[in-house]
Amino acid sequence: MRLSRYFLPVLKEPPSDAQIVSHRLMLRAGMIRQQAAGIYSWLPLGYRVLRRIEAIVHEEQERVGHIPLLMPTLQPADLWRESGRYDAYGAEMLRVRDRHKRDLLYGPTNEEMITDIFRAHVGSYRDLPLTLYHIQWKFRDEIRPRFGVMRGREFLMKDGYNFDVDKAAALHAYNRHMVSYLRTYERMGLTAIPMRADSGPIGGDDTHEFLVLAQTGESEVFYDDRVTALKLGARAVDHDDPAAVKAVCEEFTSLYARTDETHDEAAFAQVPQAHRKVGRGIEVGQIFYFGTKYSEPMGAVVVNDQGERVPVHMGSHGIGVSRLLGAIIEASHDERGIIWPEGVTPYHAGIVNLKQGDGAADAACEGLYAALAAKGLSALYDDRGERAGAKFATMDLIGLPWRLTVGPRGLAAGVVELTCRRTGESEEMSPEAAVDRLAQIYAAHP
Ligand code: ATP
Ligand code: MG
Repeated sequence: MRLSRYFLPVLKEPPSDAQIVSHRLMLRAGMIRQQAAGIYSWLPLGYRVLRRIEAIVHEEQERVGHIPLLMPTLQPADLWRESGRYDAYGAEMLRVRDRHKRDLLYGPTNEEMITDIFRAHVGSYRDLPLTLYHIQWKFRDEIRPRFGVMRGREFLMKDGYNFDVDKAAALHAYNRHMVSYLRTYERMGLTAIPMRADSGPIGGDDTHEFLVLAQTGESEVFYDDRVTALKLGARAVDHDDPAAVKAVCEEFTSLYARTDETHDEAAFAQVPQAHRKVGRGIEVGQIFYFGTKYSEPMGAVVVNDQGERVPVHMGSHGIGVSRLLGAIIEASHDERGIIWPEGVTPYHAGIVNLKQGDGAADAACEGLYAALAAKGLSALYDDRGERAGAKFATMDLIGLPWRLTVGPRGLAAGVVELTCRRTGESEEMSPEAAVDRLAQIYAAHP
């Protein structure tokens, strides 16, 4: 993309009403625009990151065998009357009535609807296990929408639902979600710690939240800091092997890590003093096992291998797709702007032309742009007639992890400059070597 033809409405002045850094930076970098309290338009740069995050979520769900579908945002109230949640959900639910005076609601979550789909089409244990998920906009009329996309009213969520013949199978699905979530967040450059949680209005016995440590997080967290060093890395985990999956979950949940909701002072006191940490965290996901809470009242039954009709065992599993943009920025920025992890960056590299209109510089930039594209890498080329300082400031603000700087002086020596946004370190090399280096870097971030 050439910046002269792009739509990147950066703001010079940080908006005064934005309280936390990710909200300020998303507004300044022209990623979002607020349309009403907690409701945002996603401007091109923000939308690009949102789609990157969505793509990673899809890939990691499909990797473990979960099946994407798409349910609507509007749901009939009658489904929620079956589970009893239409009255129970309260003021957070946005209720609407159509011209025929039928009650609808803008879905805050989808347990009822997915259970309805299941009961209509599945009747035998032979069709299990089954996990269906979608990535869809949700609406919750939060009493205090704030912090930009972190606590919106309309927000994008991945929500998935497992259906299993019994509790043991459903707990395997729970564990499989935990492992797939760990990989999902790692690919986004995040450390998200699974913490035992409280189930809230979803209901159920087993639940973990995934928290990204950040001072601006809304949850208070208590943890053994050795948990932050755990990494899934590139190891292969057979997602169909319950023991293998469970072993990973045990590795990631055996050290103490809880939110204030489930915090236990006595257990925390057992953590060696040097490792005992209290901090704050951003909830970027949650998994639940809730058994037959919905399948019983809604009549979602299967015939098991004994020929008995049994309510199916379920769980639900959510990732805050739009909140993740805020969480990533909270975890990765400096005083100059955002620093995108390679896995989610909107463009792989920025190209800054120090002397727009100089024949050699223009040609070299065009050459780099084409060579990167040929390797499947996207570049944002600042081809505006601005001074170098302004171009650098824009690149630093929007946070592309790598910048190529091209100017007549370097070109005379046969080099361009490759700069790492995170460390600020620069290296001079030939344009070909720079393209190869970037291809190598991104090979590790598919
Ligand atoms: P919270 O405690 O933050 O209100 P929740 O526990 O009610 O969230 P879940 O039902 O677990 O939310 O939804 C799954 C994920 O969706 C959450 O982990 C969070 O990342 C995201 N999410 C929930 N509410 C919002 C919101 N208002 N704005 C943006 N993301 C949200
Ligand atoms: Mg939650």
